[in-house]
Amino acid sequence: MSEPTLYSALLIDGQLVAGEGLAEAIINPASGDVLTSITEASLEQVEAAVQAAHSAFASWSRTTPAQRATVLLAIADAIEQNAEQLARLESLNCGKPLHLARQDDIPATADVFRFFAGAVRCQQGQLAGEYVPGHTSMVRRDPVGVVASIAPWNYPLMMAAWKIAPALAAGNTLIFKPSEHTPLSILALAPALAQILPPGVLNIICGGGEGVGSQLVGHPRVRMVSLTGDIVTGQKILQSAARTLKRTHLELGGKAPVIVCNDADIEEVVEGIRTHGYYNAGQDCTAACRIYAQAGIHDRLVAELGDAVASIGFARKKDSDNEIGPLISARQRDRVASFVERALGQPHIERVTGAAVHSGPGFYYQPTLLAGCKQGDEIVQREVFGPVVTVTRFDQLSQAVDWANDSEYGLASSVWTQNLDKAMQVAARLQYGCTWINTHFMLASEMPHGGLKRSGYGKDLSSDSLQDYSVVRHIMARHGQQLD
Ligand code: NAD
Repeated sequence: MSEPTLYSALLIDGQLVAGEGLAEAIINPASGDVLTSITEASLEQVEAAVQAAHSAFASWSRTTPAQRATVLLAIADAIEQNAEQLARLESLNCGKPLHLARQDDIPATADVFRFFAGAVRCQQGQLAGEYVPGHTSMVRRDPVGVVASIAPWNYPLMMAAWKIAPALAAGNTLIFKPSEHTPLSILALAPALAQILPPGVLNIICGGGEGVGSQLVGHPRVRMVSLTGDIVTGQKILQSAARTLKRTHLELGGKAPVIVCNDADIEEVVEGIRTHGYYNAGQDCTAACRIYAQAGIHDRLVAELGDAVASIGFARKKDSDNEIGPLISARQRDRVASFVERALGQPHIERVTGAAVHSGPGFYYQPTLLAGCKQGDEIVQREVFGPVVTVTRFDQLSQAVDWANDSEYGLASSVWTQNLDKAMQVAARLQYGCTWINTHFMLASEMPHGGLKRSGYGKDLSSDSLQDYSVVRHIMARHGQQLD
């Protein structure tokens, strides 16, 4: 198979231009090889991108939902027309198995654009009416203005879609910054985007967080900042945004609890956690990584899950034999390794399987299961963002719910039981943006995705996201009360 073309041009004001800033090496994490080098945007280019978005806002914000929907549908078509190229770039740049990028990332990305094309045409809201005698009130939803969208590296193209589609649909103009580690797929789509969109409506610039990212966040013409990333990054962005009172949309980390009751279907649990605890090598903010297993099922679950996890395919020659890829960087792999090392330094924590760096090229870490973990342990409390799942035993369900909620995070959770009454009671008590029952990590473009607590407060996907990217306005007309 020939290598896919590597694109490096940024998209500024409708033009594909070479970056003029620092050069950043782009690494294939499956081999550690340098794939290419991308030249980031210079300070002047960031300024030009913001000015372009600002100028384009006047006309784009006045397009109709139908006109914007046509553009979003064309982007979805372009993603499908370039599906093979995009999947291969996603696989090269993130190390993820190609068959999974083809089967999961690309169709999900196109679907997000199609969903927002439809959703923006059928939004609902309050009724117009006479709430003050002689005055008619109506409510509008208008775009916020220029949005700076900043994405992480775990699902580069899908995260781009989550950020770009609702913001454009709502009538905003954008500057999108991919992660400095994973710009290749969105840069490959940039030539098609330049054809589809009017100049300046969507600008794509590359660069690191502290340079290009913070310049964008601090820019007075940027009215809203949308970030998917780390909690610390979210805090920095909030501090900077406070100076110009920008709207912020933050989707931060997670540490999903998974409550497994005695009456759960153990085969389904094992299969579910094997898949959704380790998918994308655990580099997923919703990963099923913090298991609370009830005493009656605990020992069998640890034994069967341990065998299942040990069978996860990775770092194999044949792509279709791989179920997960490597970590994104040597730094991230070493971070995961040090979490596990510290955990195993505790006498009560038992290694069931994994717990080692893979010996071979690439930044792989063995799929790891740790049992005997206690609620206060660092490995139970902090986001590892790697293929590491912990098991903690519980007796009473109320205890498991308390422990699940005893977390700084609030993004995703799941409960596994064959008793629906019990499942509904647990779901009602969990303080998480999403609770799955007898499954985990299933997303739908129609449903909101986002967190509570330090997991942030922005909603991605669904028409809730359209609300996040727009402002409510009240229009009131005074008129007489007598017709004749
Ligand atoms: P990160 O916070 O390091 O980087 C995310 C983006 O922010 C990058 O584009 C980076 O360049 C930029 N950035 C960093 N510092 C910045 C600054 N000071 N100003 C402006 N921009 C800045 O996160 P990451 O390591 O790329 O991604 C992993 C994190 O993302 C994890 O914590 C994960 O849980 C979280 N995540 C959350 C969700 C969600 O839906 N809640 C989804 C995916 C990832």
